[in-house]
Amino acid sequence: MKLNIHSIIAKVVILLVILISMLALFLLYGSFYEKLIIGLLSSGIIVSLLLYKSLKPLDQIANNLESLNEEVYKKAAHLKDAQRIAKVGSWEYNIVTKSFTISDEAYRMLGLKHSTQVHWEDFLNFTDDCDYPKVVAILEDAIKNGSQFNMKYALNLTNNKKIYVQTSGKVRKKQDGSAKITAVSMDISNEIENKQKIEQLAYYDSLTNLANRLLLQDRITNSMQLAKRNDTKLAVMFLDLDHFKLINDTLGHGVGDNLLMYISEVLKGQVREADTVSRFGGDEFVILLSSIKTVEDAKYIAEKIQAALQQKHTIGTHQLYITTSIGVAIYPEHAQNVNDLITNADIAMYDAKNSGRNCCRFYQQSMGKSISKRLNIEQDLAEAIKSKNGIEVYYQAKIDTITNEITGAEALVRWVHQRDGLIYPDEFIYIAESTGLMIELGYLIIENAVLQAKALKELGFSNLVIAINLSLRQFQDVNLVAYISSIIKAHDISPSQLEFEITESISMYNLNETLRILTELSAIGVSIAIDDFGTGHSSLLYLKKFPIKTLKIDRSFVMDMTTDNNDRVIAQTIILMAKSLNLSTVAEGVETLEQANLLKKMGCNQLQGYFFSKPISKEEFTKFLQTYI
Ligand code: C2E
Ligand code: CA
Ligand code: CA
Repeated sequence: MKLNIHSIIAKVVILLVILISMLALFLLYGSFYEKLIIGLLSSGIIVSLLLYKSLKPLDQIANNLESLNEEVYKKAAHLKDAQRIAKVGSWEYNIVTKSFTISDEAYRMLGLKHSTQVHWEDFLNFTDDCDYPKVVAILEDAIKNGSQFNMKYALNLTNNKKIYVQTSGKVRKKQDGSAKITAVSMDISNEIENKQKIEQLAYYDSLTNLANRLLLQDRITNSMQLAKRNDTKLAVMFLDLDHFKLINDTLGHGVGDNLLMYISEVLKGQVREADTVSRFGGDEFVILLSSIKTVEDAKYIAEKIQAALQQKHTIGTHQLYITTSIGVAIYPEHAQNVNDLITNADIAMYDAKNSGRNCCRFYQQSMGKSISKRLNIEQDLAEAIKSKNGIEVYYQAKIDTITNEITGAEALVRWVHQRDGLIYPDEFIYIAESTGLMIELGYLIIENAVLQAKALKELGFSNLVIAINLSLRQFQDVNLVAYISSIIKAHDISPSQLEFEITESISMYNLNETLRILTELSAIGVSIAIDDFGTGHSSLLYLKKFPIKTLKIDRSFVMDMTTDNNDRVIAQTIILMAKSLNLSTVAEGVETLEQANLLKKMGCNQLQGYFFSKPISKEEFTKFLQTYI
């Protein structure tokens, strides 16, 4: 309970006056003094009433003053608390006298001790370089117009911390010439950081930190507007890594993730700052090349990317080779809106996959149709494999260069589609691989080839070798060796009647694993050939270690060897190298007598190609064998 000295004095005075008046009335009551006493009494009452009256407001004012004091004191404390809790600091700058004061909380926000003298210039200098011009301009404007202002900007504090503030203030100019800026600055770092986090989640891929689909679409939209205005083009490049799923499946998701992160960096290194590299999930990347001048520019970048990816990459303890299929769509040529542009780049990418992977295709209108066909193909292919109806194996003869005799044949799969007719492996093997049908399809091909070997054996051609292609997916099948071994036994053929062709890239894929499988296969008694030799990366050291018998010189070297000196030298080198490693050689794609003669002269052991025979059905092949001279 508060003590109020003024009110006590006032009350005592009034009481005294009343008491004196009563005493006078009592002691001096009489006729002479009657009037005087009553006069005194009444004047006493009047005086006391007057006194009381005049003292009462004083008393109240005193009361009010005191509670006001208390209130102000409380409010100041509250204000300080509030500033601290709300992270709001206040400051005032006198533009005329240049005096600058800041609140406790402003000190705290700036990370400064209260004893530090802060000048206006020091305060402004905390502003982040990027925001400085904006902040100065807003303040100058407010000073000029005597107006309010509101701005958000970043401060770089002395402890290397960056905070974000929102500052609202007012410039007060008086007629006496004085001018002050009074403002509050709120620390909104948390809000900004949260916003940034949300933005990161919404617009960036969490594994690679690359832009995601949403951000890419945004960027394409902006680029399109820019291209329209400046009469430039833009390219959307759809990239899909070849055989990435296999890396994931065989080496684990950890290695897969690391590879994706690594590739993200490689891709970023191949484009300009203004371009956008994004990830669409899985092993799909989409790159926006903003404002290019010609289609050639996109071609150049695509080639650069392919070259950069085609190196040997070290991911942890693994040495990996990757290739990528790229589809490109150009604005304005190939599409007029964002989604069509991306879809058409995707379609072109599928076409690149279709053309044997590791290549780049630019969108063409005719491509769209083959994609919609692909969906039906998937279902139809699954059906054909399941029912074993429509999958056929063709045979292409191989000829010995010394004896000119047929040494055997390569088994090449064909799909005879009920509606579309004959479909070549380049059009469906990759679909079988990407949909998990390849192992089943592979078993079917091996079974066909073994039955053919059996038929040949029964016809007296037991020395002929049937070569079967193995894709990477098949090669990784844990049951592969057991399957081959059991089917050889089941049909009672000799294992020497079979050969398996694997490509260089398969053989170099996982060296220890490859060595193990090849060793198991050769233990059964089947032989191994390296297919498409010269196109991939292989190490001589391992070729020596692997139990292989044959190198197949890739068709591309044979094709131009009679006109292109380089190709001829490569073919000759492969043949010499094979000889020194004690391997036999087969040249594929022999189409002319000239090629055949040259290869024979070079010392190649066997020839295969249209010059001798195209791949033909098993019935035709049997006939071919019996009539071949
Ligand atoms: P590949 O293993 O390199 O097979 C040789 C390809 O070259 C065959 O194409 C064959 O028809 C073609 N060819 C042969 N001689 C000549 C010639 O003189 N000139 C030209 N221009 N081409 C010639 P095909 O049958 O279309 O097979 C393409 C690819 O599909 C094969 O390349 C192979 O990688 C794959 N493939 C074929 N059959 C099978 C199979 O049964 N299993 C697996 N996994 N892959 C297969
Ligand atoms: Ca082959
Ligand atoms: Ca080949």
